[in-house]
Amino acid sequence: MGTTFHMVVYASSKQNADRAAQSAWARVDELNSILSDYDPNSELSRLSQMTNDGPMAAPVHVSDDLYRIIERSLEASRLSDGAFDITVGPFVRLWRRSRQLRELPTTQRVEEARKSYGYQYIRLDPQKHTVQLLAAHMRLDVGGIAKGYTSEEALKVMRLYNIDRALVGAAGDIGTGDPPPGKPGWAIRLESLGGDKEPPVYVQLKDHYAISTSGDTERFVIIEGVRYSHIVNPKTGLGLTDRIGVSVIAPNATTTDWASTAISVLGPEKGVEMIEKIPDAAARITMLVDGRIKVWESSRFHQFVVQPHE
Ligand code: ADP
Ligand code: MG
Repeated sequence: MGTTFHMVVYASSKQNADRAAQSAWARVDELNSILSDYDPNSELSRLSQMTNDGPMAAPVHVSDDLYRIIERSLEASRLSDGAFDITVGPFVRLWRRSRQLRELPTTQRVEEARKSYGYQYIRLDPQKHTVQLLAAHMRLDVGGIAKGYTSEEALKVMRLYNIDRALVGAAGDIGTGDPPPGKPGWAIRLESLGGDKEPPVYVQLKDHYAISTSGDTERFVIIEGVRYSHIVNPKTGLGLTDRIGVSVIAPNATTTDWASTAISVLGPEKGVEMIEKIPDAAARITMLVDGRIKVWESSRFHQFVVQPHE
């Protein structure tokens, strides 16, 4: 998945902690081999390759994990009005090419990519657990949801070993179990666009909540003075040019992962509107407007904020 996972585990014996962590790592590896878009042999890549000669003539059976991720992604597309869409793969490829060459793709290339884009071209059959891709040259990219899903699954594995006090995170996506011994929750410091200029914001997660933070502080390319983030706006087919940082808190990491990516595309107003409709979810958005940091918080966000050392 092109990232580093971290696990924090509390257990009554080191042996049990080691066993649980080992199984959780094996689960991460398994999901990577299914969902990676860097690996041409991953199940996801092989599915996309079935559209190389045109739309798939018939549905194919896929693993439970791949099915669930696609199902959650389609739900995310509907809830975000298409801002989150795993069919952005062809646009993401153009972005990677731009980053190497330091030049924008031609309009022609963007329009060509657009023919293979659109979540309406994914058809699922919930009874048979099959997928059919209905356009040519489709490239599914689950980079905006897989890290959250994987964190969630790794925590589930540790629960099988009776380990509930654990945290699993990949870059900006963190899932939590029960808090560390003697602590009311997991204290997490948010990274925001303001960096050191803004006072730090701490949140506390309990009840197995998750958090994801999206931003362009790490992956971006600058072309002719404009900064393009690795999150693609499907409307333009190009990386986002808004300087926006988004943190989402919700009961599960799959949701926080896709929702933080989606809000980055939607922008603060529509983003807050979307998050209010997701049960128990909250968001904090920072945006650079005319050189100043502006902050938006959804109605539930303040419930999670704590003072450092609280
Ligand atoms: P961040 O951690 O900054 O939110 P994520 O890693 O969650 O970013 O999501 C960004 C990744 O998601 C990109 O690298 C790409 O693989 C994929 N992606 C980019 N744009 C979109 C989009 N509009 N919808 C869904 N996935 C996207
Ligand atoms: Mg994401």
